[in-house]
Amino acid sequence: MINRAEHILKHTFGYLSFRGKQREVIQTILDGQDALVLMPTGGGKSLCYQIPGLVREGLAIVVSPLIALMQDQVNALQQLGLSASFLNSSQSREEQNLVMRSIHDGSLDILYVAPERLLLDSTLNRLMATDVSLIAIDEAHCVSQWGHDFRVDYLGLHVLRQAFPGVPRVALTATADDRTRHEIIDRLALSDPAVFVSSFDRPNIRYIVQEKGDAKAQLIKFLQGHKNAAGVVYCMTRNRVDGMTAWLQGRGVKALAYHAGMSTDDRAENQRRFLREDGVVMVATVAFGMGIDKPDVRFVAHLDLPKSMEAYYQETGRAGRDGQPSEAWMVYGLQDVVRIAKMVQDSNANENHKRVERSKIDSLLGWCETNTCRRRALLRYFGESQEDVCGNCDVCLNPPKTWDATEASQKLLSNIYRTGQRFGSGHVIDVLRGKDNQKIQQFGHHKLSTYGIGAQFSDRQWRSVIRQLLVQNYLLVNEEQYGALQLTEKSRSLLKGEVKIFLREGIESAKPERVKKRPLNVSESDSSFWDALKACRKELADDQGVPPFHIFHDATLMEMMQYRPQSNAEMLTINGVGEVKLNKYGDEFLEVIAQFPTK
Ligand code: ADP
Ligand code: ZN
Repeated sequence: MINRAEHILKHTFGYLSFRGKQREVIQTILDGQDALVLMPTGGGKSLCYQIPGLVREGLAIVVSPLIALMQDQVNALQQLGLSASFLNSSQSREEQNLVMRSIHDGSLDILYVAPERLLLDSTLNRLMATDVSLIAIDEAHCVSQWGHDFRVDYLGLHVLRQAFPGVPRVALTATADDRTRHEIIDRLALSDPAVFVSSFDRPNIRYIVQEKGDAKAQLIKFLQGHKNAAGVVYCMTRNRVDGMTAWLQGRGVKALAYHAGMSTDDRAENQRRFLREDGVVMVATVAFGMGIDKPDVRFVAHLDLPKSMEAYYQETGRAGRDGQPSEAWMVYGLQDVVRIAKMVQDSNANENHKRVERSKIDSLLGWCETNTCRRRALLRYFGESQEDVCGNCDVCLNPPKTWDATEASQKLLSNIYRTGQRFGSGHVIDVLRGKDNQKIQQFGHHKLSTYGIGAQFSDRQWRSVIRQLLVQNYLLVNEEQYGALQLTEKSRSLLKGEVKIFLREGIESAKPERVKKRPLNVSESDSSFWDALKACRKELADDQGVPPFHIFHDATLMEMMQYRPQSNAEMLTINGVGEVKLNKYGDEFLEVIAQFPTK
């Protein structure tokens, strides 16, 4: 049967080989066993159930919470010549009846269904009377009451075990942690599932963290390296989203906004444009999240710190699902640290919960300040050990220098002590640098022994020292005292000279090397060829009202450009060109290629 699966992979999907654990997962399901699949976003989870669904007799049921995406998923399968459909509340009664009939006929291969819809008696009864090949439960972490994507309907899915005895069930998710894993197995009542955990590494994503200066200017500069590329810019609040969108639009960037304060229609329209049009930059809060099923997002930029490593990983994971070079870019500064600490403090959560939140933030901050490979540190956080450095993060590309900051730190700590541990970083730095202003006069701080002892460093350098001491717990921000900097237990050893401390030079001073690997490597002479291929794709997509990547992915067009297939047979060797798509679109693309003969 696995041969049959391989045949479908090549001829229907047009892919050369299985990726990661796909083969093993498919084998397990073909053997009739339950499975739990943990794979990062873009890892290729869909094929894990689509292919066995086509190999095994009967209808494959795919449970998904993402109603808005079902139409797209079904279109994509129909593009491949498969018989797929969906059932959810967005359909009219007639449409639903039509689908129910096709289930009855046995003419359907794959059915996407929302959990609440599946669990209706009428739907369940109809499906139980049908030959079902497998049940896939996508976004399975939605059963976890602790996760932020919890869906109460997912809790009812355990009935599927009794309702469909002997039918293999496969649960899939991109959430990695151990607790969620056990919750999924438990709550979905999977029986003795084979568990597949892929590496959560996303090697095509380059991680870059910079110190926040003029964030807007930094963003514009970053975007200049990503002209006409689709990307997401995450901001913390709705206001910031609106402001940033308008500002980018004013600078000629095709930017759209997305946040929970907009009407459903406006959000849907902007999401639609993001999927359909080339090169849209979506400025969004985290409300723009799960289920952005767009493979060619070239970058995810964070203008504000996310609230944990988990959130950071999930948000940046939306870049580069197609495996092409992509960037996760973030700026952060002292203000972020203070703001987040305040948010945690002000929240209504109980102390225990706050402690967890704080430690999550500390992990993220520590990671921002790391002076070893970022990818390795990220994977370690998720429990994967990796020895080698990656060569594709800012630290690897541009190793930060460290300096002996013992004396500077002592000056800072004594100054905080002498000013009474009552002031935020701005005033503390002013005193250190010997500034003359009203506040200093008012408190008589110009008379302190620490006044002006740190004049040799800039404001920015001091902020960097403060940030790193905060991360390392030599300092804390007291929220009850309006963000005053205060000493900790640990400060004493540093003040007494019992320990030495080395800090990294401001990460801002390490200029990221010119990005060598330009996304998608389109050279000047190729760019008109590339544009022609994209224009051809866009025209075909518009004719059918589907997003361009439903016709072919960027990666597929790139291969066409590289290998310049001249015939149908050559076209079939291109990754992403299967037989149905060859028949539908081969001629159009061969024609474009013929217009660009090799030099
Ligand atoms: P996930 O659901 O895990 O985020 P998808 O199933 O959407 O990921 O797959 C991500 C991308 O990788 C898709 O564009 C898909 O077509 C592609 N892909 C999946 N498996 C393979 C494979 N074996 N060879 C080439 N491309 C693949
Ligand atoms: Zn690295």
